[in-house]
Amino acid sequence: MNLSPALSQLIDALRCLPGVGPKSAQRIAYHLLQRDQAGAARLANSLVNALEKIHHCQKCNSFAEEPLCAICRSLKRDGHVLCVVESPADVLSIEQAGVYNGLYFVLMGRLSPLEGIGPDEIHLDRLRERVVDGVVEEVVLATNFTAEGEATAHYIGEMLTAIGLKVTRIARGLPSGGELEHVDSSTLAQAVIGRREL
Ligand SMILES: [Zn+2]
Repeated sequence: MNLSPALSQLIDALRCLPGVGPKSAQRIAYHLLQRDQAGAARLANSLVNALEKIHHCQKCNSFAEEPLCAICRSLKRDGHVLCVVESPADVLSIEQAGVYNGLYFVLMGRLSPLEGIGPDEIHLDRLRERVVDGVVEEVVLATNFTAEGEATAHYIGEMLTAIGLKVTRIARGLPSGGELEHVDSSTLAQAVIGRREL
């Protein structure tokens, strides 16, 4: 098919979105050009603006427009507890859960030897510097419960207990409202293994 170069470039660019294959990219491109040019312009401007303004927080490595993000700047947070997560989206999820008042460190990834992602790529040197500020007492590992997330938690756990820090791992749980018979067996197994005293 003979598409205009600008159109095929747009379709190609849209494929960087997660879960968007060639067909969806084509559909989105036509939608934007035919039906929502104002929306398309807003999207383009927001992307340029975000790329220009959003950097990494110097303290927690999450996204921020200032040198420090709002959480790191806040005087209401408890600096004794530091929660390690894989991505800024995880910070948002934990914040929305409303049960945590400590600070964060965002790895921006997880260890993945197959993809060539080692300790340097997930900023473990910065994490190590961050935790020896004399304030942090406990590090909560909240990486994902995937094989890579578990391996990352294990690696960081060993690294930080070696320098004398208290390290904890968030518990795996059953979904709230979940019934045992509908839960997959590995989640149920972890719930039994991770049981706590009442
Ligand atoms: Zn921060």
